[in-house]
Amino acid sequence: MAHKVSKIPFSRVLQYVSCPLKAGFDSIADSYITATDLYVSSVKEGIYTYFTEMAMKQQGVVITKKAVEAFIDNWQANSARIPADHASSLMFYQGHYLMTRVSSFFNPAVDKLVACKFPISLSITSDIILEDVIDVLLIRTEGKKLTYRAIFLEGPNEFDNQRYQKLRSAFFKLALQRHVSAKRKLNFLYESRPVLGQDKVLYPEPHSLNVIRKVVTGVAKAIQSEAVYPTTSKDICKACAYNRICEASLVRNL
Ligand code: SF4
Repeated sequence: MAHKVSKIPFSRVLQYVSCPLKAGFDSIADSYITATDLYVSSVKEGIYTYFTEMAMKQQGVVITKKAVEAFIDNWQANSARIPADHASSLMFYQGHYLMTRVSSFFNPAVDKLVACKFPISLSITSDIILEDVIDVLLIRTEGKKLTYRAIFLEGPNEFDNQRYQKLRSAFFKLALQRHVSAKRKLNFLYESRPVLGQDKVLYPEPHSLNVIRKVVTGVAKAIQSEAVYPTTSKDICKACAYNRICEASLVRNL
């Protein structure tokens, strides 16, 4: 009998490491989002549009206008899922403003767009395949040297610590290496770019394949055994979309 292969989204692994209970909620109630979640998804849509228009050699004003439109369209399509309060309005205007200065991290003279939402996968064991998308993949040309720039658009969520970044960096690099060529050495740069609150760009060094394997197989076993328990971190709960319905969070009285 052929053995079953599980395909696991990388975001689910991180979600599970962050809070197994939240991962459980997500699997049954995907309609819950916070204003921050909506901000991040709308900004990403704007940035994807920006890069796509840029690759089509549109002019600056047109690009900015289309990026803003993509941001607004995504926001309006999902705004009924968040509270219509002051904080949400602030986030809307903040995202709107960000779209007007998105050009700061792309130099068309040396960077060429490969794709937005570039799908990648990596076999972790004989029965687990890890999957994700790279938000923006560029190729930078400097003389004869080609470097793959994998840009992760980082939201202010619970996955943004160094450990997770190193895991993601390693996953992107190993998956891309297989995609490009198993033999040719890959020049690779992973960039984590915050889309809210700060301009600090991180370039975390990748972990090894062994570290990814250990984390992912551990999480896959926990998911299969349906182990569900809340995080002990108040900070993670504060950013969680379920903190008003989750008993574990309510008893902590955040
Ligand atoms: S509120 Fe906290 S414990 Fe509850 S699901 Fe969210 S992160 Fe987990």
